[in-house]
Amino acid sequence: MTTHAFTTRAVHTGQQPHTTSGDVVPPIHLTSTFVTERVDELTNVYEYSRGANPTRDAFQNALASLEGGGAARAFPSGMSAEDSLLRTVTRPGDHITFGTDVYGGTFRLITKVLSAEGRRNTPANLRDLEEVAQTLADNNSRVLWVETPSNPLLEVYDLRALSHLAHQAGALLVVDNTLASPYLQKPLELGADAVIHSTTKYIGGHSDLVGGAVVLAKGLRLPAGITPLAETGLVIDDLQFVQATVGAIPGAFDAYLAARGLKTLAVRVERQSQTALEIARFLSHHPAVKAVHYPGLETDPGHRLAASQMSGFGGVLSFEAQSAEDAIRICQSTSLFALGVSLGAAESLIEYPAIMTHGSKADTPWAIDPALVRLAVGLEDADDLILDLEGALSFD
Ligand code: PLP
Repeated sequence: MTTHAFTTRAVHTGQQPHTTSGDVVPPIHLTSTFVTERVDELTNVYEYSRGANPTRDAFQNALASLEGGGAARAFPSGMSAEDSLLRTVTRPGDHITFGTDVYGGTFRLITKVLSAEGRRNTPANLRDLEEVAQTLADNNSRVLWVETPSNPLLEVYDLRALSHLAHQAGALLVVDNTLASPYLQKPLELGADAVIHSTTKYIGGHSDLVGGAVVLAKGLRLPAGITPLAETGLVIDDLQFVQATVGAIPGAFDAYLAARGLKTLAVRVERQSQTALEIARFLSHHPAVKAVHYPGLETDPGHRLAASQMSGFGGVLSFEAQSAEDAIRICQSTSLFALGVSLGAAESLIEYPAIMTHGSKADTPWAIDPALVRLAVGLEDADDLILDLEGALSFD
């Protein structure tokens, strides 16, 4: 069987025309329950939408194909995807090693919510492979959690090397692929065991959806020592068990929006990456800017690694202004870049990570530099966006 290219699969996987009416866009299955003819057998595969729903399945199948995974599950937010996956592959007492530069919500989930239930954790500098190996070994870690490129510093971590270290230590490598999207980076092909997404971002792509997803490597088994909830010992079956039990499911309309977003993901991300590079170059020559963090710049410390494990550099970048006051003023002075959290959409956004997205790290050794500004580049004209920033960066 021919395997079609990414963009072809993004448009067609799970999107077969409806068999009786021929709708080129499959109908949205807005139903809670499915009728059946016998008490002991399902007539139409489906029973109740908390367990499974055809619109959700269509999105899951498309995303699994685009990430090169065995199976995917969609969630009502990126955070609930993270929470369900971590609950599935760890138990209280287990240890999670994670990168110091992760999304603030992930930091809060691991260090507060899961930690309150007895899951241990240690943040590690993921650029320092010796430190990672030591942390994994010292704590007998069950999971190595990596976000690359990281948010908000756009650091790039070596997925091939980290997967090797995780597997040597008997841990699973989980990668938050939100910033790259499956179009630019396929962690499962680089050795990861699981990928998570905030589909709120590039996959949804239009700021009108909050959603999340987990994609698992084909045949992924539960770590030794975890008693399975389902019978097979496969992570997908336990994840399904957790999801259907606690009801962490997206509605059919959100699953439809996420599937629709996949169809245009490639063209959006290509354009956003192009524009982000132009903006990064502009900022790197501006006197009001101390440093730019964008792996697309040849001078960026992550450039070569990003070029070897990604097919483009993405639409998010951050920069350091000369002071915290300047950074706040810049964030409040743009007009096309709207001041708001989130990223990955048609609309360009600017935000102040120290307070807005990464406030949970305040008063920790990993607190965000108060002079840092993050940009999420949208689909507007590059020159218009640069003019907007030029205005905000001139302080007279
Ligand atoms: N991972 C990353 C990298 C994010 O930026 C976010 C949200 O900003 C999340 C996970 C959490 O996703 P959600 O907001 O959909 O719960």
